[in-house]
Amino acid sequence: MTTPEGAARTAIVTVDDDAGVSRAVARDLRRRYGEQHRIVRAESGDAALEALREMRLRGDEVAVIVADYRMPGMNGIEFLERAMDLYPAARRVLLTAYADTGAAIDAINVVDLDHYLLKPWDPPEEKLYPVIDELLSKWQEEERRPVHVTKVVGHRWSARSSEVREFLARNQIAYRWYESEGPDGQRLMEAAGADGVRLPVVITPDGDALVEPTDAELASCVGLATTPSKDFYDLIVIGGGPAGLGAAVYGASEGLRTVLVERTAVGGQAGQSSRIENYLGFPDGVPGAQLTDRARRQATKFGAELLTTRDVVGLDVNGSARTVRFADGGTIDAHTVILATGVSYRQLAAPGLDEMTGRGVYYGSTLTEAAACAGQDIYIVGGANSAGQAAVYLARQAKSVTILVRGPSLERSMSYYLIQQIRGIDNIAVRVCTEVIAAEGSDHLESLTLRDTPTGATETVGAQWLFLFIGAAPLTDWLDGVVDRDERGFVIAGPDLSVEGDRPRGWELDRAPYHLETSVPGVFVAGDARADSAKRVASAVGEGAMAVMLVHRYLEKL
Ligand SMILES: Cc1cc2nc3c(=O)[nH]c(=O)nc-3n(C[C@H](O)[C@H](O)[C@H](O)COP(=O)(O)OP(=O)(O)OC[C@H]3O[C@@H](n4cnc5c(N)ncnc54)[C@H](O)[C@@H]3O)c2cc1C
Repeated sequence: MTTPEGAARTAIVTVDDDAGVSRAVARDLRRRYGEQHRIVRAESGDAALEALREMRLRGDEVAVIVADYRMPGMNGIEFLERAMDLYPAARRVLLTAYADTGAAIDAINVVDLDHYLLKPWDPPEEKLYPVIDELLSKWQEEERRPVHVTKVVGHRWSARSSEVREFLARNQIAYRWYESEGPDGQRLMEAAGADGVRLPVVITPDGDALVEPTDAELASCVGLATTPSKDFYDLIVIGGGPAGLGAAVYGASEGLRTVLVERTAVGGQAGQSSRIENYLGFPDGVPGAQLTDRARRQATKFGAELLTTRDVVGLDVNGSARTVRFADGGTIDAHTVILATGVSYRQLAAPGLDEMTGRGVYYGSTLTEAAACAGQDIYIVGGANSAGQAAVYLARQAKSVTILVRGPSLERSMSYYLIQQIRGIDNIAVRVCTEVIAAEGSDHLESLTLRDTPTGATETVGAQWLFLFIGAAPLTDWLDGVVDRDERGFVIAGPDLSVEGDRPRGWELDRAPYHLETSVPGVFVAGDARADSAKRVASAVGEGAMAVMLVHRYLEKL
């Protein structure tokens, strides 16, 4: 089989078991169509199907398939029938000898044949080209465009399918979603040889199929760095939200060998915000993903290394080196570390919610799921800005959005501008003094039980979508016994470490901790993970930058 190198032009595929005939057809096709089309030639039905499968996975388009009728093993009709599963829109031509015209006529019904051509087809100008010209123009009328992006085939209510989409979206990887039960999804799975039991199937732009991939497998397949290039750095930044990105930009731009380590995708909470309205310099607001993607590019431009899907689980002090341990056992060392691990949504403890997470119940992730909930009734739990922003965003496409708030009003927890916006949107309702006490559903969320807190009265409502934005906790248990934290797990820094003027326990330096320095010299904290921080994008970015300034001060005295 020959598949010419080159760009992914629309293909014309020809298959004939007689090598001489096969070459002759391909030669004639190439002569007239070779400029605009790839001519793909195979010498058996199996080889041609293999080529079609590869092309399907790559997202290439096939305009015309020309198959010989008499082939051993699989005749032309059987081949075209199977080819239709992969490329239903491709135009189909059967090559037959005069004696086989009966079979060719039958094939018009079996495989919806567009044309049959009698051998020999000389001169091609009279017999072959007019047929192919017409089929190509018919095919083009249908405007089939090649798809050269990552494709995800999954089930709408599969938790892992949802996580994979979220991962790709947060890492700014363009992808196209296919329902595993839809015809296109089925075709892709067939081409990938997937059984449909293990989902999702992710097909890279190069045509590699990954079945139920881990985040790390996805990251390396879509070209995200996961492994550090050095053993030793000046600065390790843990966490890729605004604070970590701010630290990486300033660290790298000021000549520090800087690596940023992120558990999932850079952007942090800000990357999940549909529109940040109060960040300086953006009077019309800015989508969080856009802001953090710019920061990511800026950090990379200055030479910072950005590692994703690496979960940090330990921090050790080894003399003047600070060692960071990954969940998979790997380590890296540096002179200094900035903790920028932010906060994560707390999970709501109510029967049924865990089982339905990713199947109609989502923590954050409104941006990824928004399109799927168009025209539907949506519930949001939370009274802070994140919940308000999500409601405004989802209300554009949803039938209705109901915000469930435990407290008596939004005023105490949400910005004034956002409350005003919500009041002006007809399809958003706010239910105060209400909590979710149970979720039910078989393979996806079907109903919620709500309780009115003052009266205790309960009510069950039909619901397919629930988004939760309830408070946030710093996930810093892995720092236990290493750096001082407050009773909620936030990292204490600078002057807050001094108890009645005393230095922190174990602190051996002559000087007091710098402003954002933790109880371990050379380890700093920035952003939401810091005790009593402002919990704002601007302050997180500012602290990231300021921590780098203090890193320089620390390094000067090392
Ligand atoms: C939906 C939403 C809307 C918001 N809107 C606004 C707004 O309009 N204006 C505003 O000022 N603020 C807003 N905020 C708050 C703002 O986004 C946060 O204050 C800010 O993102 C904090 O930045 P950070 O870098 O400190 O932490 P985060 O953004 O939380 O980032 C921390 C990062 O560290 C990673 N991480 C955590 N632990 C580890 C580990 N052990 N190993 C590796 N990586 C780890 C996490 O995966 C995460 O990516 C919003 C927040 C949300 C959720």
